[in-house]
Amino acid sequence: MDLDLVAETLSSEQPYRSRQVWAWAARGVASYAEMTNVSTGTRALLEERVPFSTLTLAHEATSVDRTVKALFHTSDGHPVEAVLMRFRDGRRSVCLSSQSGCPLTCTFCATGQMRFRRNLTAWEMLDQALHFRRLEPIDHVVFMGMGEPMLNFDAVAAAARLLPDLGVTHRRTTISTVGWLPGLTRFVDEVSEPIRLALSLHAPTDALRSQIMPVNDRYPLEDVLAECRRYFELRRRKVFVEYVLLDGVNDSREHAGALAQLLDHDAFKVNLIPYNPTGMYAGSSRERIGAFKSVLDAARLPATVRLTRGRDIAAACGQLAATA
Ligand code: SAH
Repeated sequence: MDLDLVAETLSSEQPYRSRQVWAWAARGVASYAEMTNVSTGTRALLEERVPFSTLTLAHEATSVDRTVKALFHTSDGHPVEAVLMRFRDGRRSVCLSSQSGCPLTCTFCATGQMRFRRNLTAWEMLDQALHFRRLEPIDHVVFMGMGEPMLNFDAVAAAARLLPDLGVTHRRTTISTVGWLPGLTRFVDEVSEPIRLALSLHAPTDALRSQIMPVNDRYPLEDVLAECRRYFELRRRKVFVEYVLLDGVNDSREHAGALAQLLDHDAFKVNLIPYNPTGMYAGSSRERIGAFKSVLDAARLPATVRLTRGRDIAAACGQLAATA
């Protein structure tokens, strides 16, 4: 729901009217009709002028593990995907897209292969979450869908700041980046809320990282890690490091050793990600992932292996390409 448009439409009314409308939407109602403390005249006006969502649902699929992937279109026709992950312990985590497509070209990511359309607005991000909020309560959000959040910093920060209204606290909100420095620097300087930071690292050296993530030529490792350390110093929250394991590319014991050398053990926590097939590579075997992790364990660098969700419906990390 475009709240700016709501405020503009209700500009002759008391400002609390807009807040009332948002409070209903954030709690997961599906129509203006349900907003019983808003007058029928106001509701009719909204009905006429403000679409209930900035996105229309084009397709939805449910995985065998009950993960749900939704494909939406923006009002100007661009595709956007979002994913709801349901965990056994009851957690409900929503993965949001910050852009339609992505201008970066990470070689292992399906989104990087599709055409970049545009940045999404904060409302278009919140409407992805609200879609799932209407299904059931949600408690975690990760900005790990299509796009690079730090290329769309203002809108991402605005969306993240409103998530508590939907039931998602800042501590349960994570923004993931390739290390796009202008946005990352602003995030560290300007976001004082305890929102988590994740860095897509994927290689322990500049040479290898540049080979699989061309953006590294622009913003090399040391500069990006320095910014992450600054986040840790200021916020006292660990930075999650994402590391997708590509067979024979970045998954040897030597790579693991180099990673353990590179990262300060108090400031970073590694999340090893099994590669979800997108064409270019083969994923590392379970044995190789285990061996990689044991090197990090021995070096006492905290590390976990990410659970793969929704692979059968192409909803897993790196598979969002709007090919429903
Ligand atoms: N552009 C941001 C947000 C996307 S997050 C970023 O890169 O951090 C999506 C995460 O999934 C990133 O860590 C990305 O590197 C990872 N990923 C991309 N393709 C993948 C694949 N095929 N398998 C597993 N993880 C992948």
